[in-house]
Amino acid sequence: MNPAPLGSPPRILHIFSIFRIFRIFLPRLPRSVFLLFPPVILFPQPLRYSCTVTQISPQSRTLAVRCEASLPGKRMKIVFRDRYAGLSGLGARISSLEIFNASDPASPLVFTYRVNLSAPIEPGGYALASSLGPEAAVLYASDLFPVLQARDDRGVSVAHISVEPPEGWTMAGAEGGDAVDSETAVYVLGRLREHSFAIGNMRWRVVAAGDVSVADGEVHRLAEAIARAQAEMIGGGRSGDHLVAVAPFPLPLTGLRSTGLARGRAIALLVNPGNDPEVARAHLARHLAHEMFHVYLPNAFVISENFDWFWEGFTRYAALLTLLDAREIAFQDYLDALQSEFDAYAANPLRTQTSLVAASPEKFASPAHYEIVYRKGMIVGALYDLELRRRTRVQRRLPDVMKNLYRDYALTGRAAGNSEVLAALGREGDFARFIADYIEGVREIDLAADLAPYGIDADRRSARGRARLRVSPRLNGLNKALISSFGGRAGAPR
Ligand SMILES: [Zn+2]
Repeated sequence: MNPAPLGSPPRILHIFSIFRIFRIFLPRLPRSVFLLFPPVILFPQPLRYSCTVTQISPQSRTLAVRCEASLPGKRMKIVFRDRYAGLSGLGARISSLEIFNASDPASPLVFTYRVNLSAPIEPGGYALASSLGPEAAVLYASDLFPVLQARDDRGVSVAHISVEPPEGWTMAGAEGGDAVDSETAVYVLGRLREHSFAIGNMRWRVVAAGDVSVADGEVHRLAEAIARAQAEMIGGGRSGDHLVAVAPFPLPLTGLRSTGLARGRAIALLVNPGNDPEVARAHLARHLAHEMFHVYLPNAFVISENFDWFWEGFTRYAALLTLLDAREIAFQDYLDALQSEFDAYAANPLRTQTSLVAASPEKFASPAHYEIVYRKGMIVGALYDLELRRRTRVQRRLPDVMKNLYRDYALTGRAAGNSEVLAALGREGDFARFIADYIEGVREIDLAADLAPYGIDADRRSARGRARLRVSPRLNGLNKALISSFGGRAGAPR
């Protein structure tokens, strides 16, 4: 969405999740229809709809598509997606549509069009829709290919896709084999440098394209360390092909920023590294951990309603725990991240007006709503985790609750929403007041006061008059165990 301020998590939109809800609850919601060609009549044929991407030009940032469809005999519209989450006007990328055999019952429908991906969009949006630049392309089937829609049904999505990479480029995609799910199919192209590994039945492919100032070996190492820590954290149970792609934005930007999207089992992260490689590396680690956690939450779940506060805010927190578990960061980095989130929360005018639960469906209503979901969501995740560890004398922690949710809902296919998540959080002890105050309510958080019982002090004498959280020099036995339970790298922040 914008350059994530240093030390703060990437402000990435995960609109995919929202779209899933549309699909589940509003299957007939008109998809931001862009282009309605005069309806064509399709005659009875075996159902097959395939598209091929050709003429990908990294220089002009354009490509061509040819589709062929044999479908039941109905009048149908060719419908391109125009809006996706915060993005709109995607349909303007499509041009030169030509249709062949529209009224010939003996032949499949054929249509061709061009896609121009060169129009600038708000930088945070680049990961949300197909993008193409001199060094990489990230193509999403969902916005590249239209749905063929009859008046009375949900439409037919492309099921067979082939992509012809430009000269010298290779391609990676989580989807393989025959039919694809057009909502989750992702194709990454470029001069890809690859690393593969497996965790149980999960196969991971990590690809880097272009220059993001972090060495390939480090990108590969980080992705693997994160995948292993998260599989351990959530208990694994997943299988199949997973993809992580790291590439530059399709056009040069200023400053450190990144944008990412996790679709199904594929993660695409675009990074503009800024001028400090070590800061870029730390930023990349945090953002990767966030996106990769989405493979579990929410992408492995059937979602019954919007509870972004949990799958975004708590995921932001889970990213920090991942890096602690993997010993990529120190406990002081964790404290600094909490303080940074709190500074943003404390400046948010909605903090005493809109609860986490209420802000979630309104995430795009305003930046303040968005920040409540992400920033307050993360702080509340931390407060819950600390309290759970204290009450259980470090026998339980927040990832244990997530692991249970994953086992009870994701692995069984039962739908989950606010009530299931709140019940799971509440089952760990007497958290009714905590949930009412901080998740369903708008009680203001006083971070320094709330952290004091855990042996964490706010040092207000630190730089620029801002508070900095520190481990208290005098810890009782329980707090010593509590803080040790976070693990992390020894020593100072890096
Ligand atoms: Zn996210």
